[in-house]
Amino acid sequence: MNDSLDHESTNECPNIKDRVRQAYSEAGVKTWQAIGRTQTSKNHETCSIARCVANDIAHTDERPWHTQADCTCECDGPESGELLSLIEQGCLPVVGFDDQDIVLDAWTPNIPIIAISHALSDGLCNRRENKLPKCQLRSLRDCTTAAISRLGYPEGSPFRVWIDVLCIPAREVQPSGTSEVAVQAMQMVANAAAAVLVVDSDVSRLPKDCSYEQAIFSILYSSWNSRLWTLYEAIRAKRLLFQFANGVLDLDDIESKRGDVVNGPSNHSALSLPFRELHSRLCNGPTNLADIWPSVYASLRGRRTNFLKDACVIFRMLFGTSSGQAYPEIVNTPDALSDEQMMAFCQQLIQQFQSQDHNTNPTI
Ligand SMILES: [Zn+2]
Ligand SMILES: [Zn+2]
Repeated sequence: MNDSLDHESTNECPNIKDRVRQAYSEAGVKTWQAIGRTQTSKNHETCSIARCVANDIAHTDERPWHTQADCTCECDGPESGELLSLIEQGCLPVVGFDDQDIVLDAWTPNIPIIAISHALSDGLCNRRENKLPKCQLRSLRDCTTAAISRLGYPEGSPFRVWIDVLCIPAREVQPSGTSEVAVQAMQMVANAAAAVLVVDSDVSRLPKDCSYEQAIFSILYSSWNSRLWTLYEAIRAKRLLFQFANGVLDLDDIESKRGDVVNGPSNHSALSLPFRELHSRLCNGPTNLADIWPSVYASLRGRRTNFLKDACVIFRMLFGTSSGQAYPEIVNTPDALSDEQMMAFCQQLIQQFQSQDHNTNPTI
């Protein structure tokens, strides 16, 4: 075995591999390995079977990455003061692309927004200022232009982009958790965005004509799908799009590949994205949370968030509870959620719902 193979095998995440095995047995592990596995650019040295910590903030370099390792282009983006001023006026700050320049704007309802959903560990982040390298801005311009075209807007139609690193003032990204200003922005953009575009380091390497299995395994076990905030963004999205190496696909495009698996020799015909099931169940009108528990459980498996209090905020936003006050022993624990804590927390959430009048339905 040569050095690079040896390094790759030691960097195989035991938690991701175990989750693949539990969901899709040894055949799934073989498929996952055959597609080159996922999150291979992340460091899994301290991951265990119980948890993958590769995307936690302590393991994340919060300086922005360039699209190529040897690129040294300069950064560009809005001034934090201008962002704050828009927010103080009650506006949702968004950005547009004017040829080579990035332009800050206040959203107006006649202009569609593409909201970018991503894991911080994929390098579209900047703790110090609301700026990204120009190579990344060009990449965002190209994939959001493809996204607006996929939505059916004519070529050249105006649109705006929302991404946290450019649209939430850097000082609001606090080391102790997501600030009130940031949470309000997440809620506003969830209501306003025409579509959510997922930008992930694994999925964006795949060609658009990849197989259903390749697409689903890459999404399921991606960095993007390992975070709790992105579940909120996926569930609330009016349309969910994914950046691939040579363009943009939406979930229906990916779903249309499914026939190849059902009719083919693969034993992964049950392969699916749990958050999609949860999305449709929540959109199908009022229900009690106990009924959707299998979807909730499946959607939460393998997800983490850096701050426990964020989990309460996200559950409240998704399921309409005021659970933030209900679980002080969890809220006050200054550590990231382990998978076990996440499950225990959800069990408590469900019990709270079950003990209430079932008219208290989840709202979305
Ligand atoms: Zn890991
Ligand atoms: Zn660059």
